Amino acid sequence: MLDRLVRWARGKSPWVCHLNCGSCNGCDIEILAALTPRFDLERLGVLLEGSPRHADVLLATGPVTRQIKDRVVRIYEQMAEPKFVVCVGTCGVSGSPFYPGYNVLGGVDAAIPVDIYVPGCPARPDAIAYGVLKLLATLNSQAQELVEEIEATRDTVGLIYMPEEIEEQRESAQTPGPGPSEN
Ligand code: SF4
Repeated sequence: MLDRLVRWARGKSPWVCHLNCGSCNGCDIEILAALTPRFDLERLGVLLEGSPRHADVLLATGPVTRQIKDRVVRIYEQMAEPKFVVCVGTCGVSGSPFYPGYNVLGGVDAAIPVDIYVPGCPARPDAIAYGVLKLLATLNSQAQELVEEIEATRDTVGLIYMPEEIEEQRESAQTPGPGPSEN
C-alpha cells in the first residue's frame, strides 16, 4: 500500500535535478526552455530541485571529464531509489564532439547508468520534454496519454533513444562496412 502511494506521488510530481557535467551551456538553456511556459513540463508536476537528495530524476548534460566523474557518481549515489537519469544532448549521449579528448571519458553513461538518451546539439526542448514524459509514462497515466497522443500525431523517431537502442547504434558503428569496390 505504502509502495503504491509513493509510486503515485512520484509519478504525479517528479522532482528533477539538473547537473552540468561539462557542457557548453547550450543544452542547459534548452532544459530551461522545456521547463518554462512554452513546453511547460511543470504542468505535469515536474519540479526543478537543487539537491540530488530530494530528486527522482537527474537531467545530465555534457561530456563526462576525468575531473567531474567522481562528482557525478557521488551526486547519483546521493539520490534515493528509485532514481532515473536522462542525459541531454549529444555530448551527454556520447561525449561527442569532445570525445576522444585527453580528459574526456565519454557520455554520461561513462559514469552512471542512463535511462533515456536525448540527442541533439543542442537537444531540442520538445525532445527533452518527450524524454521526460516517456520516463513518467511508466509511473503516471496522464503522462502515458500524452506520450500516446504525441506518438500518434508526429514523427518521434530519433527524438530520444532507450538504452538498448543506443547499444545497437554503438555496435553497428563498430561493425566495419563493406570494403572498397574492386571495380
Ligand atoms: S550537445 Fe552541443 S549544445 Fe549540448 S552541451 Fe554539447 S556542444 Fe553544447
